[in-house]
Amino acid sequence: MRSVFAKVVAIMVGMAAALMLLVIVFFGFIVSPSLNRSFDGLLDAYARTYSATSPTLADARRTASALHIDIRYEGPRGGWTTRASMPHAADLRARPGNGVPGFLPHRQYEIASAPDGGTYLFGWSLAGHALEAHTALLVSLLIVMIAVILAAHVVIQRLLDPLRALNDGVARLGAGELDVHVPRAGHDEFGRLTDAFNQMVERVRGMIHSRDRLLVDVSHELRSPLTRLKVALELQPDDAQRAGLSSDVAEMEHMVAELLELERLRAGQGIVTAPTDLVPLLHAAAARWRDRAPGARVVAPAPLAADVDAEKIRLVLRNLLENAVKYSLPDSAPVQIRGERRDEGILITITDDGVGIPPADVERIFEPFYRVDPSRSKRTGGYGLGLSICKRVMEAHGGTISAERGMPRGARFVLWLPHSG
Ligand code: ADP
Repeated sequence: MRSVFAKVVAIMVGMAAALMLLVIVFFGFIVSPSLNRSFDGLLDAYARTYSATSPTLADARRTASALHIDIRYEGPRGGWTTRASMPHAADLRARPGNGVPGFLPHRQYEIASAPDGGTYLFGWSLAGHALEAHTALLVSLLIVMIAVILAAHVVIQRLLDPLRALNDGVARLGAGELDVHVPRAGHDEFGRLTDAFNQMVERVRGMIHSRDRLLVDVSHELRSPLTRLKVALELQPDDAQRAGLSSDVAEMEHMVAELLELERLRAGQGIVTAPTDLVPLLHAAAARWRDRAPGARVVAPAPLAADVDAEKIRLVLRNLLENAVKYSLPDSAPVQIRGERRDEGILITITDDGVGIPPADVERIFEPFYRVDPSRSKRTGGYGLGLSICKRVMEAHGGTISAERGMPRGARFVLWLPHSG
């Protein structure tokens, strides 16, 4: 059972069942037999005394209805009975053991001699009455318990509402949303937990903002020294050392540019859209990798019109294709770029046949600086910024980007853009 709510309800149902069992055992096996014994004894004694008064049928009827018993007379004065189904004394004498003690609805019989030589047969069923009373008790208990459980169901639902809200907040935070605030409901433990959660989110948000601020500040500060370095390198004699240094400086410049781009996109700046056909952009992105294995193929049968910032979409396609080629294997099939118009929007998929992305990393690769293999090699390069830039660009266009789970081999990135207009 994975829900606390279901567990609480199960505990309550268990307690109700235990209580019912207790009531059944107490009345059925303790109260009822002892009451039956004493009443049977009393009625036995009464029957003998009563028969000594030689009652008539009219007397017997009154007594029978007052005491819930039945009386049959057989003797010199003829025979009568207060209830037709009463057996005859002779039949009962023939089969002794006329009742089962306990709470089963058995009948007790008593045969008493009349002064005129006849016999009076008395019959009663205390256990039957007791069973009726007990059944009524159990039914009312059951009704009360069902009512209590239903009421508790509603109350517990409301009681657990804050927990549900917290659960939702934790899930949103886990999915990378930082603007989470769970409304406080009540002043109980859940209320305090909600406060603690909101404080924690506030702190995490603060820490992430200061990290981003620091990165942006450092990137800004690095731009001028990097430019100076580049100029200084230009003045150096052309040798292998200069080439190595130039490549390092270019790499640093690239990283700084990516960081600043990321920040500009975060602030919602830097996107200028215009009606564009995406198909030529797809072909241009593929053409860049024409001469490098495994190459890229485009399947986009019809024009795909969208309101986009063509430059930024080019950047997204460039990043995705760069990764697709970078993470391809020597025997990989060419990268497939598909574009199609769907009712929900424009769908672009980029599928490669390379090393693939482990399922656990599929969500995280869009976080800045996240790399599946943290060690950077010369071949794979990168700082884990490319996909976070792609995500920001797509979101700024009102679109989405995701990596498909469960690919048997290779990786597939799925992009959605809204239709133009
Ligand atoms: P990087 O510059 O390190 O490639 P990205 O943000 O572009 O940074 O990608 C983040 C991580 O996602 C990469 O380090 C890589 O592990 C993984 N990744 C991205 N694209 C692919 C792909 N096509 N195949 C396999 N892994 C990929």
